Amino acid sequence: MNNGLPLKKRFSLNTSHTRLMETIQMVDLKNQYLKIKSEIDAEISKVLHSSAFINGPAVKEFQTALEEYLSVKHVIPCANGTDALQVSLMALDLQPGDEVITTPFTFFATAEVLALLKLTPVFVDVEENSFNINANKIEEAITNKTKAILPVHLFGQCADMEKITSLAAKYNLFVIEDACQAIGADFIFSNGKRKKAGTIGDAGCVSFFPSKNLGCYGDGGAIFTDNDELAQRLRCIVNHGMFTRYYHDMIGVNSRLDTIQAAILKVKLPYLNDYNQARQQVAKYYNQAFASHKNIITPYQTDNSTHIFHQYTLRLLGKNRENIIKKMAEKGIPVMIYYPVPLHLQKAFSYLGIKTGELPISERLCNEVLSLPIHTEMSEKQLAYITHTFLSLL
Ligand SMILES: *Cc1c(COP(=O)(O)O)cnc(C)c1O
Repeated sequence: MNNGLPLKKRFSLNTSHTRLMETIQMVDLKNQYLKIKSEIDAEISKVLHSSAFINGPAVKEFQTALEEYLSVKHVIPCANGTDALQVSLMALDLQPGDEVITTPFTFFATAEVLALLKLTPVFVDVEENSFNINANKIEEAITNKTKAILPVHLFGQCADMEKITSLAAKYNLFVIEDACQAIGADFIFSNGKRKKAGTIGDAGCVSFFPSKNLGCYGDGGAIFTDNDELAQRLRCIVNHGMFTRYYHDMIGVNSRLDTIQAAILKVKLPYLNDYNQARQQVAKYYNQAFASHKNIITPYQTDNSTHIFHQYTLRLLGKNRENIIKKMAEKGIPVMIYYPVPLHLQKAFSYLGIKTGELPISERLCNEVLSLPIHTEMSEKQLAYITHTFLSLL
């Protein structure tokens, strides 16, 4: 827990090798909150006094503000990022047995929703450098059952949406972007044009889980689309398939963004660019500290996307990763593995019958990657301590 002491008091002054007085966190939500406390508290209080807890005015206000920020026609708020993905697939009317091409190197939810809807996930291996789906390997995975491509913009950097959307056009496939880790990132087309992550495919999905780059104080999510008809279906499905109260046109779900969460997000959205920049500064510090170290491959930066560093994930070569993580923990530094097992080797997907060795790059990355603390409140002293400690263990 953070006790809110001024930063300089939280570190031993001269040496960055001694233990900090406080534990470093992967994400520091408390200090971020304290900086905007008066605004947040006022907006929450407004909701409490209005008692409009479901679909109160803040939901529409946040929706409109986000549409403007993203330059997208429709934002459909919903309960979480997983629902955003599920509802998108439902709205596109995919049928059991339809195949959806996606990446095995992602959070489980990406493919979980496919299985839930009895769709077949078809995993295409990732690029070794960007960690994102290898767009050059998608075409060979397309069959006459393929209906959609579901790329993930992993760790805050966009997959190759130019190649993906052109393949989708060629084979008449839908594209649903899992932009849960990339809100605010720009995809840069070869003609220089930029579009926000999640606004390029037929639908884009985000999560406002507290630790995401734009996080609320509970669960939240949203779907983006420029397609009026699809937006209509999405709005209907998140609301029990209903437009007119108690008249249900289709089977839907109950997936709403709480008014309180929308009020919090409305306050935080204007800070999103600053938050993303703060993360980029942290990444820059790490990159410089680790540059040209023979055991470390720092995160790759593609030309066609900005990187908003939802995670700072490096590859550690020729070292005992588990041992280093344990030693870092002893020094008060949390280190995480995103992700330890690729989806095709998860027990829950064993029914697909995909064997070890079939998606070798994802499998290798799962054994090499390691994510260091990154958030909007990190100080240079924390960074010095983390980098010195990490390097001393290699
Ligand atoms: C966080 C996340 C999700 C799920 O979002 P929730 O809001 O937790 O349901 C899905 N996909 C990816 C890539 C994520 O990072």
